[in-house]
Amino acid sequence: MRILITGGLGFIGSALIRELLNHANLEIMNIDKCSYASMPEALEGKENQENYKFEKIDITNSHDVNKIISTFKPNKIFHLAAESHVDRSIDGPEDFLQTNIMGTFNILEAVRNNLSNLPADFIFIHVSTDEVYGSLQMDEPLFVESSEYKPNSPYSASKASSDLLVRAWNKTYGIRSVITNCSNNYGPWQNPEKLIPKTIMNALTENHIPIYGKGINIRDWLHVTDHANALIEVSKTTQNFIKYNIGANQEMTNIDLVKLICNYLDEKMPGSSSYLDLITYVEDRLGHDLRYAVNASKLAFDFNYQPNFLLTEGIINTIDWYIDNLEWVKSKATN
Ligand code: NAD
Repeated sequence: MRILITGGLGFIGSALIRELLNHANLEIMNIDKCSYASMPEALEGKENQENYKFEKIDITNSHDVNKIISTFKPNKIFHLAAESHVDRSIDGPEDFLQTNIMGTFNILEAVRNNLSNLPADFIFIHVSTDEVYGSLQMDEPLFVESSEYKPNSPYSASKASSDLLVRAWNKTYGIRSVITNCSNNYGPWQNPEKLIPKTIMNALTENHIPIYGKGINIRDWLHVTDHANALIEVSKTTQNFIKYNIGANQEMTNIDLVKLICNYLDEKMPGSSSYLDLITYVEDRLGHDLRYAVNASKLAFDFNYQPNFLLTEGIINTIDWYIDNLEWVKSKATN
């Protein structure tokens, strides 16, 4: 089976490739434009494996996208390439629209143009986010797959748009597709622009740990390996078009998460003062969503899937990983 992954040098894409390489009889093609967010280090040693290949391709280039799909003829495409950082989307939305919307359009068009030459079981797995649903109040029920799309940031609007394109290309042109909407991920190899690696790095380098607003925003945290395995499961669907929420049912406020990290570091690497003293409240993000959390029971029911990691255990493994790889995190932060 041939599997094409877009954005496979990123945080989640590289985790997915590491998981897929544990499965036999797969030929994997990773395409990525090698942006600031790419981390070839996360796949070190894999580049020599016979069943793994990499091509530097920007998905906004329709010619290159068409060429790789027509020659590689994948059975499955896992589409993860995206501009992914909300703060960057607020500062400069255009790249987000280009990659997340037009890039997805280019892939869908390339699939449409080559559909008759692709394997009969071809399926497109579109990796999206729970942020397309907008924000939940504290007492509201979790988002389900049929919840209305109400994106609030340029990032989530661009992802919501791409979800709608995937739906339309399924209904109009018959491209068999799964859309996944996943909650926040954590784990090794995440870019230190994101909350968890940034908190660990700033603590260990004795810099302020910035917290937006009052830190009361709530996210549901899923370990990246659990996300990768959920994607592999949903790619086995026999449905023509289906959506799955992916989450861990482990909600936590940002401030509690940061305190959890500081308390663990205080135990493991005590300094002259507590890491908690480094926490600094900063002006809130524009349009900051209060709470995201998804109901993932459809995924649990259809695939008997449950995440392996409990947040408290997963966070400790993750902190230990960043301690061991502090030089890498620091080098990524200065890039
Ligand atoms: P990331 O920023 O770590 O990695 C994205 C990868 O895509 C990078 O390697 C980058 O070089 C590549 N890329 C960007 N633009 C490209 C282009 N034009 N052409 C080719 N490659 C390009 O992101 P991530 O956290 O791994 O997220 C992967 C996907 O999962 C995204 O689609 C994101 O929306 C979705 N997602 C992420 C989270 C999360 O918590 N990180 C949660 C839910 C969904």
